[in-house]
Amino acid sequence: MSGLRERLHRRFWPAHAPACGTVHFRLALTDGAPAGPRVLTFLDADERTVGQLDHQTCAACAAVFVANIAVATHWQGRGVGREALTLVADRAPGYRWSTSRQSAEGRGFFAALAEETGIEFVERGSRCPHMTGAAPPH
Ligand SMILES: [Zn+2]
Repeated sequence: MSGLRERLHRRFWPAHAPACGTVHFRLALTDGAPAGPRVLTFLDADERTVGQLDHQTCAACAAVFVANIAVATHWQGRGVGREALTLVADRAPGYRWSTSRQSAEGRGFFAALAEETGIEFVERGSRCPHMTGAAPPH
Protein backbone atom coordinates (compact mmCIF):
# COMPACT_ATOMS: atom_id res chain seq x y z
CA MET A 1 0.00 0.00 0.00
CA SER A 2 2.75 2.44 0.91
CA GLY A 3 4.64 1.35 -2.18
CA LEU A 4 1.71 2.35 -4.32
CA ARG A 5 1.42 5.71 -2.63
CA GLU A 6 5.10 6.36 -3.24
CA ARG A 7 4.71 5.52 -6.86
CA LEU A 8 1.57 7.62 -7.17
CA HIS A 9 3.52 10.60 -5.98
CA ARG A 10 6.50 9.87 -8.15
CA ARG A 11 6.37 11.73 -11.41
CA PHE A 12 6.59 9.60 -14.49
CA TRP A 13 8.47 10.82 -17.56
CA PRO A 14 6.88 9.18 -20.55
CA ALA A 15 9.15 8.08 -23.36
CA HIS A 16 9.60 10.34 -26.38
CA ALA A 17 7.79 13.24 -24.75
CA PRO A 18 10.39 15.78 -23.69
CA ALA A 19 8.08 18.65 -24.50
CA CYS A 20 5.05 17.21 -22.80
CA GLY A 21 6.44 16.97 -19.29
CA THR A 22 5.39 14.44 -16.71
CA VAL A 23 2.41 12.31 -15.86
CA HIS A 24 1.29 11.37 -12.37
CA PHE A 25 -1.50 9.20 -11.06
CA ARG A 26 -4.40 9.53 -8.66
CA LEU A 27 -6.47 6.64 -7.35
CA ALA A 28 -10.13 7.02 -6.39
CA LEU A 29 -12.51 4.41 -4.96
CA THR A 30 -15.86 5.01 -6.55
CA ASP A 31 -18.26 3.48 -4.03
CA GLY A 32 -16.04 2.64 -1.08
CA ALA A 33 -16.53 -1.14 -1.31
CA PRO A 34 -13.22 -3.04 -1.04
CA ALA A 35 -13.66 -4.78 -4.38
CA GLY A 36 -15.76 -2.01 -5.91
CA PRO A 37 -14.92 0.06 -8.97
CA ARG A 38 -11.77 2.17 -8.82
CA VAL A 39 -10.48 4.80 -11.15
CA LEU A 40 -6.78 5.50 -11.54
CA THR A 41 -6.57 8.86 -13.25
CA PHE A 42 -3.49 9.96 -15.20
CA LEU A 43 -2.73 13.67 -14.95
CA ASP A 44 -0.23 15.87 -16.72
CA ALA A 45 1.89 18.54 -15.04
CA ASP A 46 -1.04 21.00 -15.25
CA GLU A 47 -3.41 18.51 -13.59
CA ARG A 48 -5.22 17.87 -16.85
CA THR A 49 -6.57 14.36 -17.23
CA VAL A 50 -4.72 12.49 -19.96
CA GLY A 51 -6.23 9.08 -19.33
CA GLN A 52 -7.73 6.66 -16.87
CA LEU A 53 -7.79 3.04 -15.83
CA ASP A 54 -11.16 1.73 -14.63
CA HIS A 55 -10.64 -1.44 -12.68
CA GLN A 56 -11.59 -3.55 -9.66
CA THR A 57 -9.31 -5.43 -7.30
CA CYS A 58 -10.39 -8.21 -4.92
CA ALA A 59 -7.91 -9.24 -2.23
CA ALA A 60 -10.06 -12.20 -1.12
CA CYS A 61 -10.01 -13.74 -4.59
CA ALA A 62 -6.62 -12.28 -5.60
CA ALA A 63 -8.19 -10.99 -8.79
CA VAL A 64 -8.02 -7.82 -10.84
CA PHE A 65 -10.58 -6.84 -13.45
CA VAL A 66 -9.78 -4.13 -15.98
CA ALA A 67 -13.01 -2.57 -17.21
CA ASN A 68 -11.37 0.04 -19.40
CA ILE A 69 -8.10 1.81 -20.03
CA ALA A 70 -7.97 5.03 -22.01
CA VAL A 71 -5.09 7.34 -22.90
CA ALA A 72 -5.47 10.66 -24.72
CA THR A 73 -4.33 10.43 -28.32
CA HIS A 74 -1.31 12.68 -27.94
CA TRP A 75 -0.11 10.63 -24.98
CA GLN A 76 -0.45 7.24 -26.61
CA GLY A 77 2.59 5.09 -27.35
CA ARG A 78 4.59 6.65 -24.54
CA GLY A 79 4.22 4.02 -21.88
CA VAL A 80 1.58 5.82 -19.82
CA GLY A 81 -0.95 2.96 -19.88
CA ARG A 82 1.81 0.49 -19.17
CA GLU A 83 2.96 2.52 -16.17
CA ALA A 84 -0.61 2.68 -14.86
CA LEU A 85 -1.14 -1.07 -15.07
CA THR A 86 2.25 -1.65 -13.48
CA LEU A 87 1.18 0.48 -10.53
CA VAL A 88 -1.84 -1.71 -9.95
CA ALA A 89 0.15 -4.92 -10.59
CA ASP A 90 2.75 -3.98 -7.97
CA ARG A 91 0.00 -3.87 -5.41
CA ALA A 92 -1.54 -7.14 -6.55
CA PRO A 93 1.30 -9.68 -6.71
CA GLY A 94 0.26 -13.01 -8.17
CA TYR A 95 -3.32 -11.89 -8.80
CA ARG A 96 -5.36 -13.28 -11.66
CA TRP A 97 -6.11 -10.64 -14.28
CA SER A 98 -9.02 -10.35 -16.58
CA THR A 99 -10.33 -7.61 -18.82
CA SER A 100 -13.54 -6.60 -20.49
CA ARG A 101 -13.80 -7.15 -24.21
CA GLN A 102 -10.61 -5.75 -25.79
CA SER A 103 -10.49 -3.54 -28.85
CA ALA A 104 -7.95 -4.37 -31.56
CA GLU A 105 -5.68 -1.70 -30.10
CA GLY A 106 -6.26 -2.97 -26.59
CA ARG A 107 -5.42 -6.48 -27.64
CA GLY A 108 -2.00 -5.38 -28.92
CA PHE A 109 -1.42 -3.39 -25.76
CA PHE A 110 -2.28 -6.25 -23.41
CA ALA A 111 -0.30 -8.76 -25.50
CA ALA A 112 2.83 -6.60 -25.29
CA LEU A 113 2.34 -6.09 -21.58
CA ALA A 114 1.74 -9.80 -21.02
CA GLU A 115 5.04 -10.57 -22.68
CA GLU A 116 6.85 -8.02 -20.59
CA THR A 117 5.32 -8.77 -17.21
CA GLY A 118 4.36 -12.45 -17.49
CA ILE A 119 0.80 -11.53 -16.46
CA GLU A 120 -1.94 -13.19 -18.46
CA PHE A 121 -4.82 -10.82 -19.26
CA VAL A 122 -7.86 -12.98 -19.88
CA GLU A 123 -10.21 -11.23 -22.25
CA ARG A 124 -13.86 -11.16 -21.24
CA GLY A 125 -12.93 -12.73 -17.93
CA SER A 126 -15.59 -12.78 -15.27
CA ARG A 127 -15.66 -10.60 -12.18
CA CYS A 128 -15.74 -12.30 -8.78
CA PRO A 129 -18.88 -12.11 -6.58
CA HIS A 130 -17.27 -9.37 -4.44
CA MET A 131 -16.78 -7.22 -7.52
CA THR A 132 -20.33 -7.69 -8.72
CA GLY A 133 -21.77 -7.15 -5.26
CA ALA A 134 -23.24 -10.68 -5.17
CA ALA A 135 -21.13 -11.55 -2.10
CA PRO A 136 -20.93 -9.45 1.06
CA PRO A 137 -17.77 -7.31 1.32
CA HIS A 138 -14.88 -8.96 3.08
ZN1 LIG B 1 -13.62 -11.60 -4.76
